[in-house]
Amino acid sequence: MPAAFPPPLNEKGNTVQPGLRVLVLGGTTEASTLCRKLVTGWPACHAVLSLAGATRQPHLPDMTTRIGGFGGVQGLTDWLRHNAIHAVVDATHPFAAQMSQHAAAACAAACVPLLRLERPGWKATPHDDWLMVPSITDAASTLAHASRWKTHPQSVFLTTGRKETRPFKEAAQHHYLFRSIDQPEAADLPPHTQVICARGPFDLAAELQLMRVHNITVLVTKNSGGVATYPKLEAARMLGIPVIMIARPTGQDTPHAEDAAAALAWLHQCASSTLRDV
Ligand code: NAP
Repeated sequence: MPAAFPPPLNEKGNTVQPGLRVLVLGGTTEASTLCRKLVTGWPACHAVLSLAGATRQPHLPDMTTRIGGFGGVQGLTDWLRHNAIHAVVDATHPFAAQMSQHAAAACAAACVPLLRLERPGWKATPHDDWLMVPSITDAASTLAHASRWKTHPQSVFLTTGRKETRPFKEAAQHHYLFRSIDQPEAADLPPHTQVICARGPFDLAAELQLMRVHNITVLVTKNSGGVATYPKLEAARMLGIPVIMIARPTGQDTPHAEDAAAALAWLHQCASSTLRDV
């Protein structure tokens, strides 16, 4: 059973239990790693992990967790104040742009320090054939209209996430192999789509086999970064398959850490400047 998040204030308005009160906005491996470090290595830190509720059966760590949206910027601002939060780590996915915007606005309104924990993006090697596009819609339009593919039906390996398949209906001349953790809505898929449900990490041998068995000729992916889903890019490189790479949305002007260890160091700095007794 996860430990209860301690009540924030007593009747005098003081925190009942000393210690840094942290909100971690999650949904990523980095968030889970940070939470494990907080739970196992820092007993005086009271952390709550927040998930959007997008994944039907999330892997939950053994800690206080809340699930579901806050109700926009105002909802999050109220939540931070009500729970007397000292620091927020926005460890949402690099493509979860709305939540990051809301976190920046709410933390500014509630005067709570905010750190963005975001893994670095992938970079092409000289042996990769990547076509960079700015959005999902542009990826779909490229498949639909680029002279390279317009009149040449492709076998596309689509790994964009189940809520982002609809634009590819525009490129209906191709066949798709679509992979996501949960089953997508059939109405959101282009025709000629085969779905496989799987949760990473994936390994290179399996990715090579999958792409060979399905005769994949194009890979479409967001530039999520990280090691868990990188083998599909290694496999594409080895098989000479072009990649349509969707660039990350522009981020907020927020202090930044690339891994959980750096985020932990930032939280310790917050603790020493915010609390004398942590
Ligand atoms: P989004 O578009 O940035 O956010 C949409 C809304 O979902 C937010 O306004 C917020 O609702 C709620 N939300 C998002 N993350 C939340 C969190 N950690 N805790 C509480 N509420 C949250 O997000 P998204 O792209 O749909 O992603 C949803 C979740 O899936 C995120 O936690 C993200 O880390 C994870 N994820 C996303 C991707 C991706 O490619 N986008 C991939 C893997 C994992 P309110 O406005 O009501 O607060």
